[in-house]
This record gives sequence, structure tokens and C-alpha cells, in this order.
Amino acid sequence: MWNKNDIKYFRAVLLKWFTTNKRDFPWRKDGISNYELIFSEILLQRTKAETVAKYYDSFFKKFPDWDKLILATDKELEVIFKSLGLHTQRVGRIRKIIEEYKLKNGILPQNKDELQESSFASLYISNAYELFVLKNKAALLDVNMSRVLSRFFYPKEFKDVRHDKLIQELAYNVINVKECKELNWAILDFSALICKAKNPKCNECKLSSKCSFFELTNKNKETIEEPQLNIKYDSEIPMNPDKPLKVVSLFSGCGGMDLGFEGDFIVHKDSVNEKLNPDFISERLDNDFVKLKPTKFQTVFANDILQEARNAWVNYFKKRNYSSEVYHVESIVDLVKMHRDGYKVFPDNVDIVTGGFPCQDFSVAGKRNGFNSHKDHNGKIKADIPSLETRGQLYMWMKEVIELTQPKIFIAENVKGLVNLSNVKEIIQKDFSAINGNGYLVLDPLILHAANYGVPQSRERVIFIGIKKSELTPAALIELSQEKIKEQYYPFPKPTHSFNAQGKDLAEPVRLKTIFKNLLEPEFTNDPSQKYFSKAKFMGKHCQGQTEVNMQGIGPTIRAEHHGNIEFRRLSLENGGKQLDEIKKKKLNQRRLTPRECALIQTFPPDYEFVIPTNSSRFFISASAAYKIIGNAVPPLLAYHIAYRIESLWNLYFKQESDGNIIQSRTQQADISVIAR
Ligand code: SF4
Repeated sequence: MWNKNDIKYFRAVLLKWFTTNKRDFPWRKDGISNYELIFSEILLQRTKAETVAKYYDSFFKKFPDWDKLILATDKELEVIFKSLGLHTQRVGRIRKIIEEYKLKNGILPQNKDELQESSFASLYISNAYELFVLKNKAALLDVNMSRVLSRFFYPKEFKDVRHDKLIQELAYNVINVKECKELNWAILDFSALICKAKNPKCNECKLSSKCSFFELTNKNKETIEEPQLNIKYDSEIPMNPDKPLKVVSLFSGCGGMDLGFEGDFIVHKDSVNEKLNPDFISERLDNDFVKLKPTKFQTVFANDILQEARNAWVNYFKKRNYSSEVYHVESIVDLVKMHRDGYKVFPDNVDIVTGGFPCQDFSVAGKRNGFNSHKDHNGKIKADIPSLETRGQLYMWMKEVIELTQPKIFIAENVKGLVNLSNVKEIIQKDFSAINGNGYLVLDPLILHAANYGVPQSRERVIFIGIKKSELTPAALIELSQEKIKEQYYPFPKPTHSFNAQGKDLAEPVRLKTIFKNLLEPEFTNDPSQKYFSKAKFMGKHCQGQTEVNMQGIGPTIRAEHHGNIEFRRLSLENGGKQLDEIKKKKLNQRRLTPRECALIQTFPPDYEFVIPTNSSRFFISASAAYKIIGNAVPPLLAYHIAYRIESLWNLYFKQESDGNIIQSRTQQADISVIAR
């Protein structure tokens, strides 16, 4: 599938470039021993070559040969690796290699078959061994080489290099030349100096005239940012000192939960009940909108398999100076496997893991296959894969992430339908409780109706909250273990609006009429999310999505899977439309809800861009994709209520750091008794 001439061109340009730009490193010297070659590759794993060069001498001075290394204690090794990072993984790998070396009486693998059965079997190390020790042709394929190859030959197609046969095949085809070693180094040096992960220097790149990525991004000047081609492992996300609590977000979609956990976004003023939440608002804006205060939470990791979701997320969060590297377009199954294989995918010191694992299999709008989903973890129809990787069981992979990252709290959310599917709720709750050898207290899940929290929508979500027992204060552990948890310790937020909740000072549910007040009709707007919308015809009221919204009430559930049959903003009189004023007096046409209207129903801020056209007739995010990612999301305002409540309880729950409170407390929410109708 690759053009041979392109491969030839690529090789020729890079070999030429290498002659004047190559980097000198000690492990590239002629005549170094196999021992030095092998362990320099261990040092180089997922670490910048320049960093390794600094520690290279100290490692090989202390452990100049196998005999000295065999005698090394873990502590001695860790001292050296501490500064390099990944010390546990590196020590573990060295131990395995030493064990095998001893077992085979010092005889290293002699051929490819032996190599594949050995401790060198991780893709990068085994390729390096094959190239440098066995002197075969092999590609030093890592995320950096993968990035250059995929950008040049065919952007968007590649994923995790270890499971991606396509890129392995391409890499081998490219390096299969006499100058194999030099070409490998050339590609790696080029990836570090020119074709960098962030801000590639395309304007000074000798490959640009034939580079697919360059062509794509220059055709579409309005590109949000480069498509994520691969995970940038180990990227340090700078922490905002005002947001000290780290959030790992799974199944993030376009970031409804993340936005809620971050705060600092715009909602309609009627969505906030100022009597009950007097400190929610940081700023009053035009047109009756307000900005919510920021929280102490910062998203340091997000993921989803949907590229459109990632595009929308990155486009919005870049306004908050978030790097696109926070978001990973990889399946959770692949991410966990990579982390287990020694790649540091998930960050350290995580405070919260959030995740709305895929709900189509539990949703009344879907087939309700639950655990027996017919789709795999990439959302494709499953063929012959282990059942644990099917979509309905992805919560088990969330459980794995919790085990790997050990957050203080995790929050899992799903559709209400889940609790009605035989004993699914109990199974999930039991599985989550078993994390870390019964190390988490998993509270009884609660169904929250979004309209009781100022969201103008009929949407119910079931929320599971798990709290790490060993992080709790003794008092909090006792209180949270009670069958009926005292109000002051109860982590679920209380309703603020009276859709089907009762209590003192509740505000009226927010109506569609209120939040749509300032929107222009699609033909008059410049907002692409309002301009482009589903033109699916009216099919008769017996089909789903053929009704008109009630402007005096809350909106319908915004569904992710609607195939264009999103509810009507207004129907014509013939089709039973009731908005006479709009139809008769204003002569407005029958039409379906726009993505912008759906987003406002979900409480996404009006400055969140969903439909993003390019400067040609294409879309980075089409209206159809926009409906889907909006419908998949947790309403940000509902998530904000959860985040706010958890933040306000943080110091009450968790053991304090030696320098006092971990975070400044917020005002607690006023007391309301809640009775669901
Ligand atoms: S043109 Fe840009 S993206 Fe393409 S290979 Fe060169 S630096 Fe990389």
C-alpha cells in the first residue's frame, strides 16, 4: 500500500540529512560491547537520548560488565535510575535479563527464534538486539519513529506500535537497506530535531514536499492541531498551583465530566441556585449567563477512542492552555496493556479517576446487551476476542486503571438503565470494591436526575463513588462505612432545582425557552454549531426523535445514537407543531434541534465549538459527529456539582499533609431534604 518511490525518496532524504545533522552518543561508537549495547537500550527506553547520555558513564563505570551487574542490589540500581525515571520498570527488566543470562550460562540469544523467547522480547529492545547484536535488519520502532513514518506516509492510521502490524511492516520496508543502522538513527534524530511531537518544524523539513501530514494540514489551514498519531509517553503535564488535585479521566468523550471537574465555564444564570450555592459564580456575563468558579481539580490525562471527541476536547481545552498531549485516542484496553508492559501511560500521584464507561450496552436507547455487548473495545463489531475486552465490560478496565493509579477517589457514571438490568449494579459494585484487595469503600450508587441540578434536560445518571480506605482519616473511614452515611460526610451533591426533588429553597427547573432565548435561527447565525444541523425528514410520530421539544419545560435526553433523528426544535402545523407564535407570526420553518441547542441542553458553555468546518467543504467535526459526542457526554453542570461536593469534603475525608490543609475548604451546601417523586 506504500508507494515504493516514496520509500526510496524518504530514505534518500534522511540519509543525506543525517550526514550533517547526526547526534553523537556514546552507544553509537564503533566497537562497543554487546553488554553495553543491550543495557544502553534499557536506559534509552522511553527516555530522551540527551538525558541518557548524562547518566551513561555513571552507569557503565559502576557496572562495567555482567559480573558487576549481577552483584548489584536493587537499591544500587534504583539510585542510578531514580534520576532517569521508570526505575521500577528498568530494575525489573534488568533482573529478568540477568536471570536469563545466568540460566543460560552467559549465552545470549543467537537468533531470532531464541530472541523471541527471551527476556529481550519487548518490541523495542528485541529490535535493537537484532540490529546491533545479531546484525540483522530491524527497525528501532518506538513512538518517535512511528510518528515520523505515519506523518509522512499516511497520517491517522497508526496506533500502539506494539500491536500495529501495519506500522511494523512499513518500518521494516523503510529500513530494509544496506545502511540500515544509519537510517534507523537518522529517523530517530530527525524525530527529535525536526519532526517533533509538538510543533514539527515542517517549514525547514526536507521531506515536506511529499509528506502526507504536511499536505493535509496545509490544505486545511483551520486544523485544530495535528491529529494525535500516537501516545507521547511520559509527557509531564505542568500543574497549575491553584489546581493541585490531579484527575485522570477515562472514556472522556468531548469532556463533559472534565469540564465539570475543572469548573470555570459558562452556564445560564438560572442553572445556578444562588441561595443554595452562593459561591458557585465567579463572574456575571451578558445575556444572563454566568461563569462558574474554577475548582481545585486539573485534568492530567484524558482518553477516548473517538477522534472527533478528541478534536473537540483539544480545541476547547487549548483555550485554557491545556496541551493536546493530555488526550489519548487509544482504547482503555490498549492503554492498560501498555502500562502493564512497562510504558508509563498513566501519571503518578493521581487524586481522582473519573469515567463514564460506554453506556450503549446498558441504555434503553440501545440493544441492552449489558455485559454481553456485541462490540469490542474499539467500538467495532466483535469477532473473536476475549469477552473481557467487549464494550459492555470496559468498566473492568477502568478498574484496572484504578488499581494501577491508586487514586484517593474514583467516580464511575453510567445510564440509569444499568441499575435495572438484572444484577448488573451489584456485580459492578462488587468488582469495584475488590480493587486493591478490598482497598476501596464503594458506596451505594445513586441515580441523579440532571434537571434537579439546573440542567434543562431529562437525563438520569447512576453514579458510583469509591474511596481509598487507607487515605481516609479514621473518623471518615468509620462514618463512610455506615449503612446510612451522615449528611456531613455524604459525597453525593444535593439537588438545587425542583424537577422531581423537594426541599427548601429549590429553584424552578430551567426551561428551554430560557436557554434558547438569544439564539439566532441557523440561516442567520455565524456559529457553525447552530448553522449545520440534521435535515432528516419527519418520519411520523411513531418513530423515535420525531417529536417537538417543549419550550416551556426541560429538553429531552440528548441521545448519542440517533442517526439524524434528533428531536425537532419545532414542527410544522401539519405535523402537529405547537409553537404557533414562531410558525404563524415569525414564519419560522420546521427544523430539528441544532448541535448548539443540544449542547446548551447539556449545559456545555456557549463558547464550546462543536461543529468545526475547514476552509474547504469538509469538516473537522461534522454536525452528525457533534450530535454524537454531545449526546455521549455527562452534563458539565451535573459533573460540577459532584466535583464541588467532593472538593468541599476533601479535607474532612483525607489525612492532611504535614503542611496543613490540602486544599482550602469551600462553603458547604445548605441543608435540603430530598424526596424523589
Ligand atoms: S513535513 Fe512536517 S510532519 Fe512531515 S515529516 Fe517533515 S516535519 Fe514531519
